[in-house]
Amino acid sequence: MAQRAGKKRRVTAIHAKIRNKRKDWNHKTTTRLVREYDRIVVGNVSSSKLRKTRLAKSVSDAGWADLKQMLRYKAISLGIEYREVKENFSTVTCSDCFAKSGPSGLSGLGVRDWVCTCCGSVHDRDVNAARNILRIGHGTPIKGILPL
Ligand SMILES: [Zn+2]
Repeated sequence: MAQRAGKKRRVTAIHAKIRNKRKDWNHKTTTRLVREYDRIVVGNVSSSKLRKTRLAKSVSDAGWADLKQMLRYKAISLGIEYREVKENFSTVTCSDCFAKSGPSGLSGLGVRDWVCTCCGSVHDRDVNAARNILRIGHGTPIKGILPL
């Protein structure tokens, strides 16, 4: 509304407020994570590459790059293990039997829960991916997902 009304100073103030809220959330979340855990493994999702796709807006909105950077320096300053691993196929690989049986392609992105056709495990897309990323971080190489 402020934008449409041409109120530039109001628009600037609103953007600053949103930016501060996001930064505050990022700080609180990363601080909690490094206090709670001894090892942090993150996927190497490239926010600069994603920014060029149609997911661009939601990526920069979420401030992923900032979040990862904060997590990294806080982990390092506390002496906690911090690793980034390749997360290719982490969402479609079954974290129980390692078969690539999950929903794939852009149309598959909307599927939040799926059942592995090989072992019958029921997966939440995000939890399954996190398990795969963590396992790679622990140094157990499996086919389809390689450590960096
Ligand atoms: Zn499976």
